[in-house]
Amino acid sequence: MKQRLTILGSTGSIGTNTLDVVARHPDQYEVFALSAATRVDDLLAQCARFKPCYAVMASPAHAAQLAEKIKANGLATQVLQAPDALEQIASHPEVDAVMAAIVGAAGLAPCLAAARAGKRLLLANKEALVVGGEVFLRAVREGGATLLPIDSEHSAIFQSLPEDRNCWARRVQHVLLTASGGPFRTRDPATLRDVTPEEACAHPNFVMGRKISVDSATMMNKALEVIEARWLFDLRPAQIKVVIHPQQIIHSMVQYVDASILAQLGTPDMRVPIACGLAWPERIASGAAPLDFSQLAALTFEEADARRFPGLHLSWQALAAPRGTTTVLNAANEVAVAAFLQRRIRFDQIHAVNRATLEAVRPSNPDTLQALLALDEQSRAAASQQVRQFQ
Ligand code: NAD
Ligand code: MG
Repeated sequence: MKQRLTILGSTGSIGTNTLDVVARHPDQYEVFALSAATRVDDLLAQCARFKPCYAVMASPAHAAQLAEKIKANGLATQVLQAPDALEQIASHPEVDAVMAAIVGAAGLAPCLAAARAGKRLLLANKEALVVGGEVFLRAVREGGATLLPIDSEHSAIFQSLPEDRNCWARRVQHVLLTASGGPFRTRDPATLRDVTPEEACAHPNFVMGRKISVDSATMMNKALEVIEARWLFDLRPAQIKVVIHPQQIIHSMVQYVDASILAQLGTPDMRVPIACGLAWPERIASGAAPLDFSQLAALTFEEADARRFPGLHLSWQALAAPRGTTTVLNAANEVAVAAFLQRRIRFDQIHAVNRATLEAVRPSNPDTLQALLALDEQSRAAASQQVRQFQ
């Protein structure tokens, strides 16, 4: 039986890499539905190639454009419009697995729909878990879903842990998330105020979406990943450590109580964790080149410099604060990064917006999707106000 797949955010970096892996295994995977925000022609080309039953666009105007082109090309794909349709394709009875590759809190509702419907949920969209926290995990538990990490660090930790979750608490001392350090690892911190969006998006090892690229440059990506790891692996915040490893060969590690450390290694290519999630516990070819140890000069490690990356520590602070604080942090960061990409604030002001928003918004124990979305909206408004103060 083929696995039928919905890909949320199929035109993005993770979405296209997922289709690349899927295309290598036509006997094992079938695309049931695809979705995109604005890239009509990209989604049309994907529909022509993968022949999904459904394609979802974020706005009515884009949906209408796509529907017209689908018809003109004689394709049978039915075009629907977000946001309701995202939940529909994520929870449809004919779907086996959902790749969550939308960027930001916009992905939370469809992730919850997939979780409640008991799907195999491949999670790239880390913001959904940072925003959703316990509500997200409850939906996974109650729906009987299988949650598999796609973020390379979390895939590495997942692969380095025993399959039986029941022994994690007893055996694991802590996890070590590796971080590339991004494009400004060695740049003089005094010059970070002059960073342009183009410089921030030029990641040394990966081509990624613009939001995660900026997050990698500020290390807010690692901050979000600390929170993601807390929920995925049921860890205490103090059990999560971060180490900079610029070559991105070791994708993360687990240290056990006997001081033994297990790591997962490979070339930096997102098709590896994607293939791992798609096939788990089987293994399938990903298309990635294997490591060539004769070409590996050195693996180096550094501590993250708090002056250069002040945002990293907001993760542990937010996890120690009342429930909902990680939702506030995520919303602030989405607003701040968008403002930076629009050249409305400076690079170093991203952190200032995040900190000020955490000060301004005090969450009151959000326990439902509606409460989380309301808190997300309230935090965005507070962050936007901070952005305006900098202009
Ligand atoms: P991207 O910007 O390249 O793609 C995002 C996708 O989501 C696109 O298909 C876009 O059309 C869609 N989208 C964006 N906003 C939307 C909205 N409001 N409603 C519906 N659809 C929307 O981003 P990416 O780099 O592929 O990252 C996707 C997610 O995966 C992010 O959460 C990111 O943190 C995570 N992730 C990415 C990488 C990577 O290497 N790119 C690695 C690990 C984790
Ligand atoms: Mg990552």
